[in-house]
Amino acid sequence: MEILIYIYIFIIGICLGSFYNVVGFRISEGKSIISPRSACPKCGHVLSWWELIPIFSYIFLVGKCRECKSQISTKYLFFEIVTGLLFVFSYYMFGFNGEFFVSILFVSLFVIISVSDLEYMLIEDKVIGFFLIVFVLLRIFIPIPPEFSTFGFNSYVESIIGGVFGFGLLFLIGYIGQKVYKQEVMGGGDIKLYGIIGLILGLKLTFFSLIFASLLGTIIGYVLIGLKIIKKDKPIPFGPFIGLGSLCVYYYGIDIINWYFNLFL
Ligand SMILES: [Zn+2]
Repeated sequence: MEILIYIYIFIIGICLGSFYNVVGFRISEGKSIISPRSACPKCGHVLSWWELIPIFSYIFLVGKCRECKSQISTKYLFFEIVTGLLFVFSYYMFGFNGEFFVSILFVSLFVIISVSDLEYMLIEDKVIGFFLIVFVLLRIFIPIPPEFSTFGFNSYVESIIGGVFGFGLLFLIGYIGQKVYKQEVMGGGDIKLYGIIGLILGLKLTFFSLIFASLLGTIIGYVLIGLKIIKKDKPIPFGPFIGLGSLCVYYYGIDIINWYFNLFL
């Protein structure tokens, strides 16, 4: 019966992923997230319910608008599948407990900011503000797991120090970068985002997530430039890499740290 739970969680994930696509796009455009109904961006054809089913509609429609036959962006499909898979992975890692809910909300945050950051190079304050409230409440009722603790801090102290550290460190990097390069090197959205990541991960994992995000950003950035998928002088949104780095560390950070120290001790 376990397999049914996985399928069920995957379906919830792709449905929410579909909704997060809408949220990511519409909030950046300053539109309401509930109305009007979703429509084709090219011809304005209003989508009926069967054209809004995650993944399946894309397959039925062979990736094209029913009216004008223009291509539907594969980004929608990509984020639906990614959300579904990460929800399933969260269940695999944590089972049904408090941390499972923290993890699917953590995934949700990163899907929404990745959609808007990739499209508009923006991480909206509304999204950050919403998740700040959600994560503060979550970490009161579902405290940071003890193994995430740095220097044996208790869970609440760990959350607060993690948040202050995440925000403070990126603010500092942004400030110094601005002085040295005379231009913005760190988006305001990225700085605020790291504040809420700190609440969930605590001090040491927040620090590692930044190293991971920077490494992934650099490697994937060079690969994409090498493959000529993106241009060299075009700025790359950092949000998706922050998401990727933070999730890697969230799921496996403790294992990686233990493995690393066991090599030398
Ligand atoms: Zn159309």
